[in-house]
Amino acid sequence: MGTKGIEILGGNVKEILALLEKAFADEWLAYYQYWLGAKVAKGPMREGVMAELIQHATDELRHAGMVGDRIIQLGGTPALSPKIWYDLTNCGYDAPEDPYVRSLLEQNIKGEQCAISVYKKMLDVTKDKDFVTYNMALQILQDEVEHEEDLQAIVEDIDMMVSREMKK
Ligand code: FE
Ligand code: FE
Ligand code: MG
Repeated sequence: MGTKGIEILGGNVKEILALLEKAFADEWLAYYQYWLGAKVAKGPMREGVMAELIQHATDELRHAGMVGDRIIQLGGTPALSPKIWYDLTNCGYDAPEDPYVRSLLEQNIKGEQCAISVYKKMLDVTKDKDFVTYNMALQILQDEVEHEEDLQAIVEDIDMMVSREMKK
């Protein structure tokens, strides 16, 4: 990173890098979980669910890029091998073993809730110390909050549809 960029850093760079490295693994795993989920999804509103999952996969990949760039700026190294993602991840990986749309959505909602906690913590640690990481974490948090809301809205629609069908 540039010298002035380092000079203004008030926070503990090691601590911030550790959080970024873990979040980087989370983003890649979230990306893959969405990407694969969109391929295998089956059930009511399949097309709509697939479109949403693909959109979220694209967002997670973009987040991985943002976090990776910041790791490099701070002098760190993003996970050089996918094998390390499992060691670093906060939120883990839920294999889409059950392709039913509602099961996929539940798995991804859990992942988003974890991601929200991850970026909340990153904001707490960098507040008034590392403005650049703070700003990045805030941008990502806004996306994760929207992701959770989008998925919960689809679950609500599916449940409404299914319960109406059952009353017929
Ligand atoms: Fe993300
Ligand atoms: Fe997300
Ligand atoms: Mg969305």
